[in-house]
Amino acid sequence: MNSTGATQVCLTVAEKTIAKMVERITHDRKYIDMAEVRADYLDQAELAKVTNLPRLTDVPLIFTIRRTRDGGKWGKPENERKPLLLRAAAAGFGYLDLEADVAFADVEARCRQAGTRIIRSIHDVAGVPAELGSILRNLPRRGDEIAKAAVLPRSTADLISILRASGEPGLKTKIVLGMGPWGFPTRVLAAKLGSFLTFCSPAGMETAPGHVDPETLIETYRFRSISASTEVYCIIANPVMHSRSPWIHNPAFESAGLDAVYVPVQLDEPRAFCELARLLDIKGASVSIPHKAAVRKIIVKEDETVSAAGSCNTLFAADGGFHGTNTDVPAFTSTLLALAGGKQRLAGMPATVVGAGGTARAVTYALTTLGARVCVLNRTVQKAEALAGEFGCSWAPLEESSMPVLRRHSDLIVQTTSAGMHPQEGSDPLWFYKFRGDEVVYDVIYVPKETVFLRRAREAGCRTRNGEHMLLEQAYLQFKLFTGLDYPAGCRGITVF
Ligand code: NAP
Repeated sequence: MNSTGATQVCLTVAEKTIAKMVERITHDRKYIDMAEVRADYLDQAELAKVTNLPRLTDVPLIFTIRRTRDGGKWGKPENERKPLLLRAAAAGFGYLDLEADVAFADVEARCRQAGTRIIRSIHDVAGVPAELGSILRNLPRRGDEIAKAAVLPRSTADLISILRASGEPGLKTKIVLGMGPWGFPTRVLAAKLGSFLTFCSPAGMETAPGHVDPETLIETYRFRSISASTEVYCIIANPVMHSRSPWIHNPAFESAGLDAVYVPVQLDEPRAFCELARLLDIKGASVSIPHKAAVRKIIVKEDETVSAAGSCNTLFAADGGFHGTNTDVPAFTSTLLALAGGKQRLAGMPATVVGAGGTARAVTYALTTLGARVCVLNRTVQKAEALAGEFGCSWAPLEESSMPVLRRHSDLIVQTTSAGMHPQEGSDPLWFYKFRGDEVVYDVIYVPKETVFLRRAREAGCRTRNGEHMLLEQAYLQFKLFTGLDYPAGCRGITVF
């Protein structure tokens, strides 16, 4: 926080030369408040000149020489590190990072003399220490030193431990950050959690695991407007960092003038969501792979669509806890109707659903509701059989021997597996099927924009659609559920991919 109490945006620069460090800081200057100089990355010859750095930029700097055991590059003995710290202590750096296990009385004394503030840090690059809260509380700090913990969560339970530690009473000036994808919310929500700063990296660099670039932090996540009172919305999935949903919801919050932010939250265990929601003040969530079915066990009320489809993609806080609905179903239905030519055409239409996962459930429910005659094809036949049984459809294994049944259900083909999706781009789940050219073909995948499967269909002359419209429509419906407002018209044209 600066004198106004705002959480600082700190760019970590890890370069071999001082000139390159200055170039990085200058490039991102309009987004950042300060920069961390990672001296452990500098070439030996450059190290001698590192004390010039404070004169070469107008942002306050943190001086850090991170040891290898703390995730840095400095592998030399402490008696070679200490003189560098000693010189840096009085060279005009605003801050000096000193690990909690280090007792360099002369470095500390010089910092106090020169007005260089000490960041007293602990690092765990392998996990989250038990009792992190009490470790932070008991750090040997003097005066205005800042307590810092950078640890590596490996699960939702670890993230919860970090959030609890961060909320420890009596921890005044602190930096508590979780690295990697599990820790991502602690970086974006640093202001909500009362951290002194959050670190970020130049675009494309990720100096530490989970760093976001400053432009994304400020422009997409609206970091400057996040405070203790900001409402949090999120996507829960595992993995989650590829999600484009923050690019759909955050501009809409901004356009609607709402004090709210939307972040990706990697979640391994749906039951952990409620505690996470309590700690982070989460008011609503999009639900994605693999939680759409399992998340039903934590909702206090589900609507008919969730019960019928057996799949929930939206949670919103309401009386007594989280309520669940499924916006994939109406989003798929409206975009399919536009593609296939209206309800009359779909009634009785022979259709194939490829896949039997969460999305296939929503799609099969939508298609059977519209009166289509559905056949489910899936790699794991038991799942095809179970899904088809629930909706009164036929089913078959996803293999060449199913060609006869596929031909009988091929007026409409909806692809719902993740085969063909990044990083399985080369995969075509219906490789054995040759399109005639008169099929209507819908692939719910949106990354890449055109899968191998969808390209084959288009090249054969089929009417095709990818999953982008569905993704956007289901998000617009979620926005309405989250906020009570229509998705702003002005945001509909925003580029999400
Ligand atoms: P899910 O519940 O995990 O189901 C995955 C399905 O894909 C299963 O049927 C699985 O078959 C099948 N599968 C995975 N890899 C395969 C392979 N190599 N060959 C054949 N089948 C394979 O996932 P989901 O939630 O349904 O999501 C599936 C896809 O839908 C994802 O690509 C997701 O991005 C997309 N999606 C798009 C939207 C949208 O708005 N456009 C919305 C939701 C989901 P097994 O049963 O044999 O494992």
